[in-house]
Amino acid sequence: MTLYVGRLPERVRRRRARWVIAGAVAVLCVAVAGVVHALGSAAAPAAHGLDPELERRFAAAQAAAEVAGVPLTLTSGWRSAADQQAIVDDAVERYGSLEEARRWVLPPESSAHVQGTAVDVGPTEGALWLGEHGFELGLCRTYANEIWHFELLADGADACPELHADSSSGW
Ligand SMILES: [Zn+2]
Repeated sequence: MTLYVGRLPERVRRRRARWVIAGAVAVLCVAVAGVVHALGSAAAPAAHGLDPELERRFAAAQAAAEVAGVPLTLTSGWRSAADQQAIVDDAVERYGSLEEARRWVLPPESSAHVQGTAVDVGPTEGALWLGEHGFELGLCRTYANEIWHFELLADGADACPELHADSSSGW
């Protein structure tokens, strides 16, 4: 019969120490990941910088869509000028010319997204639904070629303005 009254064998103590360190590192990693995730959420393009009235109306539209059984999500809201410029650059590359890119994207100085006064919505079903019900919810589609892009109905307006064919007139 063996009784360990005193110290544990050296090998066991070392192994335990390694597990304690590994555990501490794991806890730290989870904590850091949590902070990074929280920062990422705070910096998400959706709500930050969005006009509060637009945010309120979009939330009401989402609630109404849910009642109607239609999915409606925000795919893009406020964008920084740098984000918008990157989108312009990408569009020029994708469409092969600035001429064509201008139909789909505006420069930072005239983009309603940079001003926080536009939302892009999805999926297609939700965008189409909002196109039908936007006026009563105070949201108007702006461009005929962008079914997903909505801006605020102007105060006192009794209809959404006529659609622009595309964004090229805003350049
Ligand atoms: Zn848009």
